[in-house]
Amino acid sequence: MDLQQLFIHDTTFSFGLEIVLRCMLMYLLIIVFLRLTGKRGIRQLSIFEVAILLALGSISGDPMFDADIPILQALLVMSVVIVMYRLTTFLMMKYQPFEDLIEGKALYIVEDGMLVLDQIRHGKMSHDEFFAEMRQQGVEHLGQVRVALLESDGKLSLLFYPNHEVRYGLALFPKAIQPLHKVHANVQYACTHCGFVSTLSVLHSPCLRCGCTIWSEAINPIRVT
Ligand SMILES: [Zn+2]
Repeated sequence: MDLQQLFIHDTTFSFGLEIVLRCMLMYLLIIVFLRLTGKRGIRQLSIFEVAILLALGSISGDPMFDADIPILQALLVMSVVIVMYRLTTFLMMKYQPFEDLIEGKALYIVEDGMLVLDQIRHGKMSHDEFFAEMRQQGVEHLGQVRVALLESDGKLSLLFYPNHEVRYGLALFPKAIQPLHKVHANVQYACTHCGFVSTLSVLHSPCLRCGCTIWSEAINPIRVT
């Protein structure tokens, strides 16, 4: 391997200086253009905004060290992207269907302590992902949750039952979900697929709501906040 080729190749001292200058200019441009998006931070990004950031990122990188790309061209490309971005966000504000199309709709994942079947069927959610998100928000079982809404930026918004309305629900922490070997009368079980709660007379009875046959013991502790 030729180390000179690998590390230096045809870099001259003056082109090295040009790179320093190019980086400083592009750095300033990136900050100016990110400010022009009007976003205050990047904590919550929708898919659409990630796309814009990727576009800006890839436009910004090359002019930093490619002698064939003048800064003016990068400036032009970034300006077009930002104008398109501002136009799109303006249209999204004006027309709700357009916003749904671009950003995606918020989806109900849990209603009345049970998973919404349509969302499971259409593969719009993975159990693991949302159970993890709910655990992180301090949910012990689905019986505590009145509504869970998946926002278009991927965050989960939760509404809880007041303590006296917490019912039996599907446990969300792994140790609380044990495979059943037999069923007992007067014990509540939760369908591991949809969260439906019922007593069982036979070990593998199909769930009345979704038809799944895998159950775990339901629990009903209230939320400790
Ligand atoms: Zn079920």
